[in-house]
Amino acid sequence: MELNERVVILKTGRFKENDLWVKFLSSSRGVQNAFAFGGSRSRRRFGGCLEPFSQVLFKTGTNKTGTYQVLQEGSLVKAYPGIRSDLRKIGLAANCLKFVESAIIGSENSRRVFELLIETLDVIEDFDPDDFFPLFFRAKVAFEQGYSPDFTICSQCGKPLFSSRPVVFDIEKGRISCVDCADVRKGESVSVGTIRTLAWIQDTGPSNWASLTVPVEIRQECFSIMDRFMAYHLGLVWEGNSYRKV
Ligand SMILES: [Zn+2]
Repeated sequence: MELNERVVILKTGRFKENDLWVKFLSSSRGVQNAFAFGGSRSRRRFGGCLEPFSQVLFKTGTNKTGTYQVLQEGSLVKAYPGIRSDLRKIGLAANCLKFVESAIIGSENSRRVFELLIETLDVIEDFDPDDFFPLFFRAKVAFEQGYSPDFTICSQCGKPLFSSRPVVFDIEKGRISCVDCADVRKGESVSVGTIRTLAWIQDTGPSNWASLTVPVEIRQECFSIMDRFMAYHLGLVWEGNSYRKV
């Protein structure tokens, strides 16, 4: 069976002199692995396609017995030269790619996550987002995966949460309550600035985030609360320089 699919290359490695293995995010099938025989040699079939960050149109098939996937040829859609030539941008983009690689992305939401990753790489390429940018990407992927708390109204009394008072976030249940309803022993006190920021991330996309100016303490609170939320719900924690399943 052959198929044409849009992908972003996440990782590649050599397994024989001219052959590569390739891990990629497919727009239709989530994260996939395949072999590119002659991949490090054939400019005609793979010219410029087999580098991390590249956006590619692949023709994918399987070997004769159907036990593994084989890349037949690729045509480069976008190479992201601005990311490749800037170490800081490489770091931001690599952080997003590593998260995609570790999060289990099924075929039902691969299209959304793929579009989100492309838009994120476009912003890193064209602008100079700050170091918090990958966090917003990770939070948005979690929201797209269905782990999407309502940050706008109290989960218990239904009143709007955007007053100046802090709220309580129950990380395990993914519910936010106003201080009148919340049992503070079962959640964490979070500032309104943080839940407003997270609600805004839910409603917008990466091209809106590059110009975001949020005070450092709110960014740090977003970081701390969302990383724990994702560790609990997606089972992923950042450790050293990669994500680990917990
Ligand atoms: Zn309430």
